[in-house]
Amino acid sequence: MTLVYQRRVREENLRKVLRFIHRVGNTSRPAIAREFHLSPATVTSLIAELEKQGLVRENGFGESAGGRKPVILEFNAEWAWVVAAKIGVKRVRVGLANLKGELKSKVVEPLASPHFQDVVAQILRMVKTLLETTPHPRILGMGVCCPGVIDQKTGEVQKAVNLGWYDVPLQRLLSEHFDWPVFVEDGADAGALGEKWFGNGRGVKNLIYVVLGNGIGSGIILNGELYTGHQHAAGEFGHTSIDFSGPPCPCGNRGCLELYASAPAIVRKAKEAIERGEQTLIRNLVEEQGTLSGELISEAAYLGDALALRILRETGELLGQAIGNLVNIFDPEMVIIGGGLSLAHPVFFETIAQTVIHQSLFLRRKPVEVRKAFFGGDSELVGAAALTVERVFGEQALVL
Ligand SMILES: [Zn+2]
Repeated sequence: MTLVYQRRVREENLRKVLRFIHRVGNTSRPAIAREFHLSPATVTSLIAELEKQGLVRENGFGESAGGRKPVILEFNAEWAWVVAAKIGVKRVRVGLANLKGELKSKVVEPLASPHFQDVVAQILRMVKTLLETTPHPRILGMGVCCPGVIDQKTGEVQKAVNLGWYDVPLQRLLSEHFDWPVFVEDGADAGALGEKWFGNGRGVKNLIYVVLGNGIGSGIILNGELYTGHQHAAGEFGHTSIDFSGPPCPCGNRGCLELYASAPAIVRKAKEAIERGEQTLIRNLVEEQGTLSGELISEAAYLGDALALRILRETGELLGQAIGNLVNIFDPEMVIIGGGLSLAHPVFFETIAQTVIHQSLFLRRKPVEVRKAFFGGDSELVGAAALTVERVFGEQALVL
């Protein structure tokens, strides 16, 4: 073996072992030796190198398999952090997360302007503030998620109908300002992975994550892998038509689900009812608080307002039918409901869940499991962080 070859093998082994420890969390030297068919001496030397770099540390003793108790090795998730950002139609969220995808700090601001240059400027300002105010280790990379059709290779937002963005080179625009790599992800896809890796979808091989908010989308995981489709446009089911003679949608179709079941649609239904003169507490709440919003309708539902409860129930039924169709197409084990609207009064989620189960039961022996997102409105931020760790880790972590 030449020296160059030996060095390459060692670097490759270091990366493999580090990825393994990162993935499993806790392990031991004998377990690593078994996993990769390496000699105990080689494993000891590799771990010494990773410990020296601060990537791996010892943490007590594990159960003995007959001989001495093995020393537990754990991955140091605080060795570096990543930045995550989520662009929504109304809000921008920016967070810092460790290498396990755990959010360490977060800021949420209303979207100052939907123009992409303004959004980039806003994100830059928010990241700067967050980094200045939070003591942090080195930053390895940044993941940004955005609704719409994203080319993940180039980081270009091809179409984000709700923001009015077409062919926006978001990755390039942000990368210019940072020393670390930037990745752009589809929000619903990131949310699906966030829930699968760290949330309610752990251990589930086939799941559909549905994001309900100002827009409606879904991230589809089939056989453990994210399904993005031929042109990264899979799961855009907010723009499936439920009424071909319905009103035109900004996407070019007519009668899209989003026009009937998103947060703006719920607000519109309440406004129309108020204009018709229906008795409702929503009117009083608007007078007290100013703007009619999804949150306000949910608040009225908590006060027992009949109109608010009816709107949430009707919209929940519509969504349940649409999601039931998805379940009939993909046959997942679990549906996870996330996004801002998932935090509304429980009647909304319960109606969705019951309708999805009812709509898809005839084909199944067991009903599909419908759950709320573990991370609530943050699933996408957690997913963006986790995807960034997945992409940069192992490449950047080891500077040999
Ligand atoms: Zn549409």
